[in-house]
Amino acid sequence: MALFCPKCKGIMMPKKTSTGKIRMVCTCGYTTKDKEKIVLKEKIAVDKKNKINIIDKDIKTDPKTKVDCPKCSHGEAYYWLLQTRAADEPETTFFRCVKCKHQWRSYD
Ligand SMILES: [Zn+2]
Ligand SMILES: [Zn+2]
Repeated sequence: MALFCPKCKGIMMPKKTSTGKIRMVCTCGYTTKDKEKIVLKEKIAVDKKNKINIIDKDIKTDPKTKVDCPKCSHGEAYYWLLQTRAADEPETTFFRCVKCKHQWRSYD
């Protein structure tokens, strides 16, 4: 694909830069930066994906505690704290049984 220089209408040639990116350059010195912009956008999209993956991992690795499940009597459950209603009320502890996935809350 031949590109024509918007400055002098000459034919532009692809050239590899010192950073390894391909740019269209002209003998008059004009350089297009379009390809570099596209590469940059792709990189940001990948970074966002990685961050989402990290958050997913954190949710799955809730801390465990020794507590008896009211359903199957298994002695270990995941737990997390949640502010339920007004800010001046104490946080509620939620449990989820490691074995049967039953969820319940602590009223302490
Ligand atoms: Zn030119
Ligand atoms: Zn259980």
